[in-house]
Amino acid sequence: MRNRGRWVLAALVVSLMLAGATAAGGQVATGPPTAVGSGGAVATIDRLATEAATAVLRRGGNAVDAAVTAAAVLGVVEPFSCGPGGGGFMVIRRAGDGRVTTIDHRETAPAAMRPDSFLESGQPLPFNDARFSGLSVGVPGTVAGWAEALESYGTMSLAQVLEPAIRIATGGFVIDQVFFDQIRQNLDYFDDLPATARLFLDPDGTPRDVGTVFRNPELARTYTLIARLGPAGFYRVIAPFIVDAVRRPLVFPSANHRWRPGVMTLADLARYVAPERAPTHVTYRGLDVYGMGPPSSGGSTVGEALNILEGYDLAALSTEEVWHLMLEASRYAFADRNAYIADPAFFPVPLRGLLSDGFAAQRRSLITDRAAPSPVPPGNPYPFEGSGSAPGQAADAATRSGSTTHISVTDGAGNAVSYTFTIESLGGNGMVVPGFGFLLNNELTDFTFTSTTDPNRVEGGKRPRSSMAPTIVLRDGAPLLVVGSPGGSMIITTVLQILVDRLDRGTPLPAAIAAPRASQRNTPATVAEPAFLLTPEAEALRRRGHVFTTTPEIGAANGIELLGGGRVLAAAEPVRRGGGSAMVESPGS
Ligand code: GLU
Repeated sequence: MRNRGRWVLAALVVSLMLAGATAAGGQVATGPPTAVGSGGAVATIDRLATEAATAVLRRGGNAVDAAVTAAAVLGVVEPFSCGPGGGGFMVIRRAGDGRVTTIDHRETAPAAMRPDSFLESGQPLPFNDARFSGLSVGVPGTVAGWAEALESYGTMSLAQVLEPAIRIATGGFVIDQVFFDQIRQNLDYFDDLPATARLFLDPDGTPRDVGTVFRNPELARTYTLIARLGPAGFYRVIAPFIVDAVRRPLVFPSANHRWRPGVMTLADLARYVAPERAPTHVTYRGLDVYGMGPPSSGGSTVGEALNILEGYDLAALSTEEVWHLMLEASRYAFADRNAYIADPAFFPVPLRGLLSDGFAAQRRSLITDRAAPSPVPPGNPYPFEGSGSAPGQAADAATRSGSTTHISVTDGAGNAVSYTFTIESLGGNGMVVPGFGFLLNNELTDFTFTSTTDPNRVEGGKRPRSSMAPTIVLRDGAPLLVVGSPGGSMIITTVLQILVDRLDRGTPLPAAIAAPRASQRNTPATVAEPAFLLTPEAEALRRRGHVFTTTPEIGAANGIELLGGGRVLAAAEPVRRGGGSAMVESPGS
């Protein structure tokens, strides 16, 4: 269980903490990643976040209130994955009219960014040089997204939903091994910067010790400003400090890296908006699957792969056959994603064509009983758009895995929220905004910054392509499943695998979330977890020509299933990233 020992600290409960109890609820700090009951439900990677959101539901808040509450707490306890310095995508199903909508609060490139901003002497910067710089920072969208979600679909104020996070940031929580390791992973860069070192390192320059209390009063101050002033607290009051951090990176004289300055301005922050967008939609086995549209490739790529797979009776096939088809479907869907998905304000994304049954049939017809050698070329979705324009140029499939976190929430009224948000790499761009206690994102490295012609090239005012895939599945108009995951571009294959496991193979949601994973993204080798490579299917897939490389973990998903009859199941990742936390409003089997 991931809570990582994050008990809220109050001096009077230190003894309780030592006895393994929380300050807030008197519950032990570990618990099952699965919960069943009735009313609302919450699943996140962290117990404090899940607890805070569940408490909001019990007080009568709706799923949007609870999701923002959890997100704010995650900004405190998962500072290397998410926070006010980043951005995200929220998919919301409204109880009232049953409508599904999305709030795009993706980070945005400052106006002065250019297609060659990450090139030096005509050559793209190495990834780490691009990442650990002011150049990689997109204008953060998180605070605007929270405000937009609450104002349009919540019932509580920012001040109300930020209160638990402010309390935890002030009181502190106990550092566990995962937190320590996440600092250690970034140590070589974190120790270049006074503000980052002060927050995350001990005076001797090593990561804050496991078992000690981590407090972040400066982040509490950031949240308090936002609670009092709304988004202006961030986009006006904190903005000059963000601009300063980005444009004039403050480094120790002893720094062993060059931190290139960025070009963000106050105007970039002042003009940030979090637009509401239509979700992507496909039908699958009679269900309605809603996801996040461009600038995320999540909804379109999961949707295209499902459309391809719908042509097979997966329930009647062997596990190995299902795997083969799933890997091939995602191979072709990724070829199309890489060619056609970018910020729709800058590139005419052929979304209708990509999600059409006709295009899926064309892509399906390429699948044989052997693994196709990758990269496969993109298809041509334009005829299915009613347009004859030529396909765009294919980009490299992203293979990096970063940070990010996902929140699933439902309430008793029928609202549902699927929310993924991030600061991109684990630790973002490494810069803590001095005095404000949060890390900045490096989201602009999600642009195809190695190319000046790719649809996903860097441009001022543009949002980089994402893979985040917050998903909501409806049956007969009512919520059935909420699911999502972190994991870079492996988010897409993780969500696809869970949906196929649950919907076609009847695997219970907790087992689908826990299952060993493999991820094919139009690269010659499929990336797989060690446990997957030990399965008999892996061997059989090799005989069909699939080639595997391995990575320790793929994704760390969570989800909620409405079981019918008023019952609800919340399921968090049990092991990966230390495991997550699931709760329901009214427990009971
Ligand atoms: N920045 C990535 C995206 O938007 C998410 C980062 C991750 O999950 O590793 O797709």
